[in-house]
Amino acid sequence: KSSRNSDISLELQLVPFGENQKLLICRDITHLEKIETMRRDFIANVSHELRTPLTVVGGFLETLKDIEGAVPENLRHYFDLMEDQTGRMRNLVEDLLMLSQLESSQNLLQETEVDVPGLIATVQNEGQNLSGNRHKVYIESMDETLHLRGNRDELHSAFGNLVNNAIRYTPEGGEIRIRWQLRGKEAVFSVQDTGIGIEQHHIPRLTERFYRVDRSRSRETGGTGLGLSIVKHILTRHDARLEIQSELGKGSTFSAVFAPNFVVIQSKAE
Ligand code: ADP
Repeated sequence: KSSRNSDISLELQLVPFGENQKLLICRDITHLEKIETMRRDFIANVSHELRTPLTVVGGFLETLKDIEGAVPENLRHYFDLMEDQTGRMRNLVEDLLMLSQLESSQNLLQETEVDVPGLIATVQNEGQNLSGNRHKVYIESMDETLHLRGNRDELHSAFGNLVNNAIRYTPEGGEIRIRWQLRGKEAVFSVQDTGIGIEQHHIPRLTERFYRVDRSRSRETGGTGLGLSIVKHILTRHDARLEIQSELGKGSTFSAVFAPNFVVIQSKAE
C-alpha cells in the first residue's frame, strides 16, 4: 500500500514476525516514484512527437501510390514495404501512448454503464472483418442482461485486443469463440481459439511489455508486443483479472473476469 501527500511517497508493509507478532516496514519510495514518473512522461512525449511525422510520411506514401505513374512498377514493392513499416510504427506509437495514459491515470476511470452485449457484437464484427474469411469468428454464448460499470472505449480496446490476438495466432480455417456470461457472481468475457497455443512457462510473462513467445511471428502478424500489457492495465482499472489457459498446438482461452462490484444485471423487461 502506498500513502502519499504532495511531497513524499511511503510504502507500508505488514509482515509476520516471530510468534503472534507483526513487523511494520515503512519504505520511502519518493525517489523511485519520481524516476517512474520521468520514465512515463518521457515515453509519452516521445510517442506524441513521433505521431505527426509518421502521419505525414504515411500520408505521402499513400498519395504517391494513388497518383497514376508516380511510382514506377519496379519500385512498387519497395513502396508497399515502406507503407507496411510506417503502419507498424504508427501502431507502436499509438499503443505506447495508450499504455502511458493508462499508467498515469490509475484511479481516474470515467465510468458509465456499458452495454457489453452491444459492444461484443461490434468486437465480433470487427474481428470477422480483420480475418476476412480465413477464420470463423462467432459469439457462442451471450448473456444479454449482463452489463458493466466502466469505460466503453477501454473495454472495447481490451476485448478487441483479445479477439485480434486469437485471430493472429490461429492458422487459416480456425475458429474463434466469444462468450459473455456469469460465473458465480463474476462476469466473464472469454475468447477461445483453435490456434498455435502457448507453452505453460510463458504464460505468467505474457502481459509484460514487449514479451513475445516468438518475436518474428508476432512481427509478421503486425503485433507491437504491447497488446496484453494494455489489456491487463485496463482490466485492473475495472477490478478484473486476466486468466489464460492454453495447450500448445491446440489453442488458447483468454478470459477477463470482472468482480461483482462492476457487474450490472439488467432486468429482462428492459
Ligand atoms: P503481440 O503484439 O506480440 O501479439 P501481445 O502483448 O498481444 O503482443 O501478446 C504477447 C504474446 O503472447 C504474443 O507475442 C504471443 O506470443 C502470445 N499470444 C497472445 N495471444 C495469443 C493467442 N491467442 N495464441 C497464442 N499466443 C498468443
